[in-house]
Formats: sequence, structure tokens, C-alpha cells
Amino acid sequence: MSDKENLYQQLLQLDGRGYKAYKAIQGRYNFPEFTLIIARVQGDTFASPSHFRVQMSQLVAGFPPQLYQTHSREIALRDYLTRQFAQVARQTSSRRGTGRSGLIAITSVGQTVLERTACGVNGESVEVRFVVGLPARGRQILGRQAAEMLCEDIPEIVGRSLKYSQLDPIAIQHHVETVEDADWLRQQLRSRGLVAFIPDGAILPRRSGVDDRPLETDAVPFESPDSLRVEFTCPNRGLVRGMGVPAGITLIVGGGYHGKSTLLRAIELGVYSHIPGDGRELVVTDAATMKIRAEDGRSIVGVDISPFINQLPQGRSTSNFSTPNASGSTSQAANIIEALEAGTQVLLVDEDTAATNFMIRDRRMQQLIAKDKEPITPFIDKVRQLYKDYGVSTILVMGGSGDYFDVADTVIAMENFQSSEVTEDAKAIAQQYATQRIAEGGKQFGQITPRVPLPESIDPSRGKREVKLKVRDVDQVVFGSEDIDLSAVEQVAEAGQLRAIAEAIVYAKQQYINGKRTLPEVLDRLIADIDSEGLDILTRFPEGDLVRFRRFEFAAALNRLRTLEVR
Ligand code: ADP
Ligand code: MG
Repeated sequence: MSDKENLYQQLLQLDGRGYKAYKAIQGRYNFPEFTLIIARVQGDTFASPSHFRVQMSQLVAGFPPQLYQTHSREIALRDYLTRQFAQVARQTSSRRGTGRSGLIAITSVGQTVLERTACGVNGESVEVRFVVGLPARGRQILGRQAAEMLCEDIPEIVGRSLKYSQLDPIAIQHHVETVEDADWLRQQLRSRGLVAFIPDGAILPRRSGVDDRPLETDAVPFESPDSLRVEFTCPNRGLVRGMGVPAGITLIVGGGYHGKSTLLRAIELGVYSHIPGDGRELVVTDAATMKIRAEDGRSIVGVDISPFINQLPQGRSTSNFSTPNASGSTSQAANIIEALEAGTQVLLVDEDTAATNFMIRDRRMQQLIAKDKEPITPFIDKVRQLYKDYGVSTILVMGGSGDYFDVADTVIAMENFQSSEVTEDAKAIAQQYATQRIAEGGKQFGQITPRVPLPESIDPSRGKREVKLKVRDVDQVVFGSEDIDLSAVEQVAEAGQLRAIAEAIVYAKQQYINGKRTLPEVLDRLIADIDSEGLDILTRFPEGDLVRFRRFEFAAALNRLRTLEVR
């Protein structure tokens, strides 16, 4: 009898037995076209579902090597297959009992293309990892339903999503070529003196605040001002034109509701590639770009915020600043310093989410409140030094204060969702109406001293469990007994990134955080390991729900762990 027939019979025999009897099916099964691995069986229908893997030989899957030969193409193909599997599984699986009975699902994906452990492709085979809700009524196994799911539905889903001959070759080609072009464009930016590129014709607005798909009707396609238009010849698509945002300090101005934040948001997510049809698929941003915002209430541990904040009441140190409950301005200062510590090259700030007193302090306020009574040195007095001393560029949405005209290299205006360049107008106005501000920033930005995280302060255990990790939505990580709040860390695209970050903190603690290495050194090593070994290095067993993250979001999570201590 074949493995498949065996499994079928075994499941029929489990019918009516208690749920725990399912444990017996853990193992490997050679199906005619693939190997089915039942890696972990759930304890009951309401528990998190069982972990399955399927490995199919390339002799059966048949993907032409050109679809996965470069890194960009491999990530794109894996992304495509994950989406295909998700779609077919949704059509095929159905509720078959209580709780999660009947579920067949792969990690959930959005508009971004990311490396995920849910699917792997190489010259030998294709692998997918997914979850299955083994069916039961109450605690009683539904054996026949299980046999149908595992021996009929899964082969059907696998056959329709992992075999090249069953897929749309043009769509796959387009997917890998689009991602390859975007990755290529992103890599060109620095040599062209740019920090971001927004092609003509891009669709930037989204359907809603909770729906990241492109706005369908009435979306005004992006068009570059002539003065900022640049050209690239992409490897696949060929000539592409659009707006190049130069390095330096760029201001996005314009009336309320004219598309400023939408443009900045697209730039923010340009650190990732997007699926064809997203509208932002060739919007690219320097990979080391960090969105900065105010985040009152966050904890801060041992950060030198003295470039921005000094002489706090009660003589509190700002060169080694800690608080369990930051203010708007101190949180924004810490967010910037931490981003720089982690290696950020471009900062993005939107007035909508910035602390006003951190951004500006005008002439009148300087007169009323003397400098020695105001701890904050506003960003306006530091933003040029950041570029001069550290080469860090800033893109700033600022409809509310013309004081920034003095410090901007480029000024882009948004009007009715259309862009124009108004740098010269802004400079002329700055000349005509001097702000008469007194510069408060001193001569230099100030030192950025990397901190050394202490391993004892990072504890993933909870009760009897050595490691307890969990992710809620895309903004909460449960780490041992602590909750890490990442709702203000805006460049997290998928919950799976947080899953991977949680695992990575445990990994980094075991491997590299030793009370001697600085945080940037730990980041370098962690990222090098993932680059060379893949995300699987983070976990003891192969998991299907880890998604590639950036060093900046890893640092952001660690920085928000309330038990963290540093030297
Ligand atoms: P601002 O930051 O200038 O106040 P937003 O970027 O928040 O404006 O945009 C205001 C509204 O206009 C949002 O609902 C957004 O989705 C929509 N919008 C932005 N850009 C476009 C566009 N190019 N075409 C159509 N609608 C847009
Ligand atoms: Mg806005």
C-alpha cells in the first residue's frame, strides 16, 4: 500500500476517537507527486493549527531556473507561489467541524514582496509550509473529513499552486521582472545622488486607512515636476521616468488634503518592493530609510538625546536618558538618535505625527522663553548638521511652517495631488521675509555613541516556559512577560516580520548580546547570519510564518522592550 493510501486508512480508523489520537499521524509521507510532512499536531480544534510542509521535486514542479536564479527573482517567485497557494487554499478549504476544523492556510500577505519561510525554491525542489486545522466535532476526530483534506484537498491545492505547468507563465514572469526592476532601481539611488524615486504614472493613494490596495477610482497618477525628472533604464522594463528626490533636505509643502502624507507614505514603504498592480511597484527609497514620529509613552533606555534636549528640570541627564514614559519631544528625539545608531541614512518626518515643539521654535517664542529655559533644540536647527556631519538626508512634510525654507535644499509642492518644484520661490520668500530666528543648534550635530545592550535584561521566559513569544496584529509583540508596542514603528509591513523579530531577539541574545558588543555590532552579525543562512537559522524547527525584517525594525523592537538595560 502506498504512503498516501496508508495515511487515508489511518485517518479513517481515527474517526470518533479523542483528539489526542491525531498525534499518531506525525511523520513523512511519500505522495505520488510530493512529500507531505506533518511536523506538529495541534492539541485540540481551538489550539493553533497543525504545521504541515510539502516538498516537491523540481522534476515535478518544473520551474525554469531563470525564474529563481538571482536573489530578487527567487524572492519574487517564492512570493508569487505563496500568494497562489493562499488563493487556491481559500477556494478549496472549508469549515469541517468545530474550531479551526477544515482550515488550510499559508501565512497571510499584503502588498509587499518579502522573503518568507512559507515558501522556498531552489534547483532541487519547491517547499511550502502551511497550517491545517485537523477536523473534529468537539473532541471527537472526524476521520473521513481528515482523510479528504489530507489526501484529496492538499494534493489538489499543491497541484494547482506549485506546478509550473498549471500556472500563468506570463504573470509569473511579470512578477519576477517587476521585483527585479524595483530592487535594481533601489540600488541605483545612491550613485545617482538620490534618496527616493517615484515614477510617472504611479498610483499612490490607498483604498482606505485599513485597506492597503490601490485606490480604484479617481486616483490621480503621480507625475514628476520637469525639474526633478530623472530617467533609468531598468533591466526588464527598460526606460522609466519619474521624480528623483535628491539627497539633502527636502520639504514637501502644500495645502491640507492635497496629497502630502500620501506621497510620504509611499516613500516610506519604498524600502520594500510591491506586487505588480499595486501602483507603487517602482516607487523605491534608500533601503536605510526610517520614518520618525513622536511616540509619547514609550520607554527609552540610556539614549544620548543631548543633540536635541538639554537641561531638563530636576537636573536629569540627557546624555544617558531613560524614562518609562517619554514625552512627545523626547520620544521623537530618541527615535532619531536610535535610528542613527542603527545606521539610518534617510529620515522621514510628517508634521501630522511630529511634536510641534520638537520641530520649530519661532522668533517670538525665542523672545518669550529664553534658550536656557527651553530644553529642546528644535529639529530645524539640527537638520542641516545631520546632513553635513553624517550625510543623513531628511524628507519632511511641512505645510505649517515656512521657517524650514531656510534649511531646505529642495521644496516640492503638492496641489490637487499634483507635484511641482517650488524651491526658488521658497528661497525668494525666505529672503524677503527673514524669520529673524536665532540659530540654536551649535556648530555640530553631536556624537552618536552606540549603546551596549545587557543580556540579563532580555528575558523571553514566562512562568515555566523558557521562551514565550507571540504576535498580535502588526504592532504588538509578546516577549516573555513583556508587551512590546510597535504601533509607532510604521515600516512594519507584515505580522510575520514581528514573529521573526521576536525569534531574532532570542537568537541575538544567545549568540551575540554579551554585554560587550554594541547594538550596531549585534545588528551586523544578526543580519549577516540571516543573509547567509536564511530565516530558518532563527528557530529550532522549520517554521512557516517568519518574514524578513530590516535591522531598523529589529532595533526598534529591542529599544521598546521595557526591561532593556544598556551600558
Ligand atoms: P495631506 O497630507 O496633504 O493633508 P493626504 O495625503 O492625507 O493629504 O491626502 C488626503 C486624501 O486624498 C486622502 O484620502 C488620500 O487617500 C487622497 N489622495 C492622496 N493622493 C491622491 C491622489 N493622487 N489621487 C486621489 N486621491 C488622493
Ligand atoms: Mg498630511
